[in-house]
Amino acid sequence: MKVVKNISLKNLNTFGVDVKSKYFVEIYSEQELKQILNSEEYSNHQKIILGGGSNILFTKDFDGLVIKNSISGIKLFDEDNNKVIVEAGAGVIWDELVKYCVDKNIGGIENLSFIPGMVGAAPIQNIGAYGQELEETFYELNGIYIDDCKTKIFNNSDCSFSYRNSIFKNELKNKFIITSVRLKLNKNPNVNLSYKDVKEEVEKRKIKHPEIKDIREIVISIRKSKLPDPAEIGNAGSFFKNPVITKERFKVFKEEFPDLRHYLVDANNVKIPAAWLIEKCGWKGKRIGDTGTHPMQPLVIVNYGNASGKEIYEISTMIKDVVNTTFDIKLENEVNIIN
Ligand SMILES: Cc1cc2nc3c(=O)[nH]c(=O)nc-3n(C[C@H](O)[C@H](O)[C@H](O)COP(=O)(O)OP(=O)(O)OC[C@H]3O[C@@H](n4cnc5c(N)ncnc54)[C@H](O)[C@@H]3O)c2cc1C
Repeated sequence: MKVVKNISLKNLNTFGVDVKSKYFVEIYSEQELKQILNSEEYSNHQKIILGGGSNILFTKDFDGLVIKNSISGIKLFDEDNNKVIVEAGAGVIWDELVKYCVDKNIGGIENLSFIPGMVGAAPIQNIGAYGQELEETFYELNGIYIDDCKTKIFNNSDCSFSYRNSIFKNELKNKFIITSVRLKLNKNPNVNLSYKDVKEEVEKRKIKHPEIKDIREIVISIRKSKLPDPAEIGNAGSFFKNPVITKERFKVFKEEFPDLRHYLVDANNVKIPAAWLIEKCGWKGKRIGDTGTHPMQPLVIVNYGNASGKEIYEISTMIKDVVNTTFDIKLENEVNIIN
């Protein structure tokens, strides 16, 4: 384990912003993590944990220690006739875990195929896509508190999961490091066709009895056709969450904008697409310098080359302001901002 000084994080965040970290270390085991957390030398430095860097925006150089979590390993932790508990290290690539499960016909996370990043970050925002959310199969996780190095297991309800949210984005933000995650998955999986695009593609491909491997393939092809690849153009996926508004308010919106889509959240609330709001404000494909919203997907803010984190952050606040002024709706960031 080697701590390096003044390292550029350009290749370690999918926005590709060129910021430096004062110190950087990559850890491969819980033991190494404890060693670095206990070390006197770095005890007074601010610490940030980094996975794949696909949901983070550094707005300036980081004056502390970045810990890259690369704890590997996937194993079957427990099983009965119907269920299997799979455990993965926080540094396992999320999509490798999905592939591992789908290859064994273990179901429950196939709709979450191809989401970038590492297993350890998946619970942070309760990753979700195409009609599935992590919390539906999440069993428990292991981790370590940064300040006293104590370990703790969090079960599903301890995590306070909600839409793109958990306890780790709130009370425990930058205080707790996830080291491994356990998911409870199905040995006899049913496919989840609740998302319109997935169902339509199954029909289009004339698959009579879709299996989870078909769903994985379809989700990957939809994602590739819709989302910009960070390897080609810097981005962190959706920059904002889709806002939740009351049904009454939605009714008023719908009268003025009949094309507005919505998703039921509960008996009183609906979610509406942030991308639609941004587009209506004239911000689809708008570019300022080397940053802007993607021409096909305005919810994605991109780095065309040499945008700084500050410039990307500034454009995000301009978008929030214009949506607030136009629609009286406050967009919330999905991306984790490091100021
Ligand atoms: C093209 C693209 C598409 C995307 N699509 C989706 C999508 O469909 N659905 C979705 O939910 N997300 C999506 N995302 C966002 C992102 O992929 C996920 O949020 C992912 O879980 C982030 O993983 P990461 O390892 O890259 O996290 P990072 O960006 O490295 O970290 C994210 C946050 O988690 C913290 N963190 C990371 N690891 C740990 C750990 N082990 N312990 C404690 N804290 C930790 C970090 O400090 C940071 O605050 C997309 C991103 C991109 C670029």
